[in-house]
Amino acid sequence: MSAQHHSVPRLLEKAITNPGAVKINVEGAFIVDEDPRSKSPVRTEGVHYEGSDIRLPHHTGLVSHVAVDIGGSLAKLVYFTREIDSSDVGGRLNFMLFETHRIDLCIEVLKQLKEEYVRLHGPSPTELCVVATGGGAFKYYDKLKDALQVNIIREEEMQCLITGLDFFVTEIPNEVFTYSETEPMQFAEARPDVYPYMLVNIGSGVSMIKVSGPRQFERVGGTHLGGGTFWGILSLLTGARTFDEMLAMADSGDNSGVDMLVGDIYGMDYSKIGLKSTAIASTFGKVFRMKNDAEEAAPNGEEQHENVTFKNEDMSRSLLYAISNNIGQIAYLQSEKHQVKHIYFGGSFIRGHRQTMNTLSYAIRFWSKGEKQAYFLRHEGYIGAVGAFLRRQPANWGRRTSLDDTTAPPDKETFDGHLKDHAL
Ligand code: ADP
Repeated sequence: MSAQHHSVPRLLEKAITNPGAVKINVEGAFIVDEDPRSKSPVRTEGVHYEGSDIRLPHHTGLVSHVAVDIGGSLAKLVYFTREIDSSDVGGRLNFMLFETHRIDLCIEVLKQLKEEYVRLHGPSPTELCVVATGGGAFKYYDKLKDALQVNIIREEEMQCLITGLDFFVTEIPNEVFTYSETEPMQFAEARPDVYPYMLVNIGSGVSMIKVSGPRQFERVGGTHLGGGTFWGILSLLTGARTFDEMLAMADSGDNSGVDMLVGDIYGMDYSKIGLKSTAIASTFGKVFRMKNDAEEAAPNGEEQHENVTFKNEDMSRSLLYAISNNIGQIAYLQSEKHQVKHIYFGGSFIRGHRQTMNTLSYAIRFWSKGEKQAYFLRHEGYIGAVGAFLRRQPANWGRRTSLDDTTAPPDKETFDGHLKDHAL
């Protein structure tokens, strides 16, 4: 694997001419579950550190960039640090999350990373730069630039997603898994026949992207009923303050408290067309009748809320099923239309939540009669951010099979005036 062993001066030279284009040595990369974490310079209170850093035991070169994916709901940050114990070679990727409306907090953390970079490297020949993707890379470009006084390189969102997914799938052991009730986390090996596949990214909204080969992809569809819908509606209905609170409520809820089930209509299974009595006929379909019945029973036709209360937990569960089932079904239809068997689900909406994964996985298995497979990732929310972190790599970098081949000419495609060195 000689491609991993370029000398530091060569790396520096590359970084000077093309900021952020440092080859990250991913050989032997693995997920770290235990603390203590690395020498993270971030001191800010109230930021959400993700567990599961990715250890890069062989990366010795200078990393002169951090990456941020600023979406409609969340900003995801990825940065590199050395290990606490200086005898440990290499370093690790750190993952951090902010609500996008608290972008100032994210900028504060970026400032601290810049200060630390200057402290470690002094007046280095390469200044730290920020690789930014997602809509916020445009919306907050001036704000980031003014506050940080660094070079901001913008990368296209879909390309970052594909680069990031490819990295996770091909380079990180125990990252990708399949889900079923009996085997909740069955890790999947990288398949030799990776393509074609589909990425279903469930963020605020949902994008479905068919990937046919390295650098060959097309956004084939999506839906606006996504994570933002779940988050928004439940904050109206339940008053829950955080997303995790909503997931916890969904965990203990019973959707039949609000959903109309086949059994509510038939009084039994509708076996002729294969529907069990517990199948959902209509999400929230029972609410109107229950509310109406209670009002009619009330004296003088007054609204009588005391007799009919809908539990926050039940509504949360119902909406989680509704959003996940809907996405699962559309994903299946898209995969059928575009002849794809392998479907990767990413985006922060999933957040490792078992009901969400079970619903998506079940939907794909059910509709495809077991022909298609749903996959999940442990870093599902960071696919775009990692992609941005890795985007500016030497051509052909990053495939296990192509690590030795760094001589291919760089891709000529440009975005925002920058020549791209593709990772894929
Ligand atoms: P985007 O790039 O559009 O912000 P993400 O992939 O970051 O998309 O996913 C955002 C969605 O993730 C939210 O709409 C919500 O459903 C869910 N989510 C997960 N964790 C959180 C959190 N801590 N705060 C808010 N929403 C969260």
